[in-house]
Amino acid sequence: MSEEIEHVKCLIIGSGPAGYTAAIYAARADMKPVLYQGMQPGGQLTETTEVDNYPGYPEGIDGPQMMIDFQKQAERFDTDVRSGWVTKVDFSGSVHKVELDNGKKNMTADSIIISTGASAKWLGLESEIRLRDMGGGVSACAVCDGFFYKDQEVCIVGAGDSACEEASYLAKLCTKVHMLVRKDVFRASKAMVHRVEGMENIEIHYNTETLEVLGDTGVEGAKVKNNITGEESTIPCTGFFVAIGHTPNTKVFADYLDLNPQGYINVIPGTSKTTIAGVFVGGDAADHVYRQAVTAAGTGCMAALDAERYLAAKGIH
Ligand code: NDP
Repeated sequence: MSEEIEHVKCLIIGSGPAGYTAAIYAARADMKPVLYQGMQPGGQLTETTEVDNYPGYPEGIDGPQMMIDFQKQAERFDTDVRSGWVTKVDFSGSVHKVELDNGKKNMTADSIIISTGASAKWLGLESEIRLRDMGGGVSACAVCDGFFYKDQEVCIVGAGDSACEEASYLAKLCTKVHMLVRKDVFRASKAMVHRVEGMENIEIHYNTETLEVLGDTGVEGAKVKNNITGEESTIPCTGFFVAIGHTPNTKVFADYLDLNPQGYINVIPGTSKTTIAGVFVGGDAADHVYRQAVTAAGTGCMAALDAERYLAAKGIH
């Protein structure tokens, strides 16, 4: 570790809706928050094009622009927003220690708000990533983007509870939903499987892997392969959804915080409090259920309010 140690009252780690909302509340409560943006400034919303379900934007808003607006609002109240990410923590003492960017900087904080989020998993195909990045019809969130494919035909990859839930959601909007399942069984619970099996416009393709998402500027289909017969075919679709799980960005905290088996941070129910006093969490790092910008903002607000009360109880002003 380097020699320089900076002490702050409130350190916020991560810059999605949870982190920036925590910053707005913490800054307005005079906690002088310092926010480190992490490896993907703006978080998952920077991978989205149009956000139509965040209240307050009647015409919808571009995901990256929304995160710029969040940042500006946090900075208006003098949040110190910095680029960089946490590489190590030590939550063993009453003052929490954090190392940034592999030892370039050390900090201590009276309170910490973790808002590192989760990252959607992708298949890793060149065509998938290219179309995702250009807003061409590849998405990891049916609730966010399904509406754009109303009365159209879509594909969704995955066989877990999320894929089933998202396929059911899409089936209510789209003319047809093709579920691409790589094995001959689902991983999802029986109830969820029954639900998708019972929907007339969901077609389940077992033993099916995606070779390529077709289309230059927008999705036109999926080239798939049956991994038993080797047969290749093309499924027509205008939207391609990937629901193969998320990875919470919590590894760096694993030695100190209570994580569930998937790596999400466990909180004391109804609060943002972790098992370590003074360490709070908001957003997807603790939420594998709702995963929405608005719920992340809400729990980010909770984290700031819990941190403020914690500091007040300790007499830290
Ligand atoms: P899961 O890890 O449970 O499932 C991921 C699915 O994606 C698996 O079926 C897996 O296939 C498939 N998959 C992974 N990689 C690939 C790939 N490269 N190509 C094709 N398919 C792939 O993730 P979920 O997000 O579905 O769920 C996470 C947790 O959240 C689970 O515990 C789940 O129960 C819970 N959850 C609960 C809900 C509810 O109760 N309402 C709703 C949503 C989630 P394979 O099976 O072949 O490994």
